Amino acid sequence: MIKNIDHIAIAVSDLEEALSFWRDTLGLKVTHREKVLSQQVDTAFFEIGASKIELVEPTTEDSGIARFVQKKGPSMHHIALEVEDLSSMILELKSKGLHLLNDVPIDGAAGKRAIFIHPNSTGGVLLELYESVDS
Ligand code: ZN
Repeated sequence: MIKNIDHIAIAVSDLEEALSFWRDTLGLKVTHREKVLSQQVDTAFFEIGASKIELVEPTTEDSGIARFVQKKGPSMHHIALEVEDLSSMILELKSKGLHLLNDVPIDGAAGKRAIFIHPNSTGGVLLELYESVDS
């Protein structure tokens, strides 16, 4: 079951430069900063109501997100939906033939388990489904 739009992630090439817009120009408060080693990214989150904006800067040259920024420039990267019972959703999505980038959940930022659905199964948007550790 899908509960909430958790965050919209924007891939950036320079996190400090992006912060100068989101934090300094718009006046939003950074509520979480984290380098996620498993994903080779540095992240900053802004909470806006029940949802967040996540800025993601690649920390290596050869990760998926680094290649995304090289190809498209800084731009919206994915939408993340919070779900209940990620394991059974994975089985359901696979049975419907969706193209999952990973069917074993990865450890995302802030202790989340997450999978990604390829844009070619969603009409063009990279979708993240995640389950928080306490749900
Ligand atoms: Zn995300």
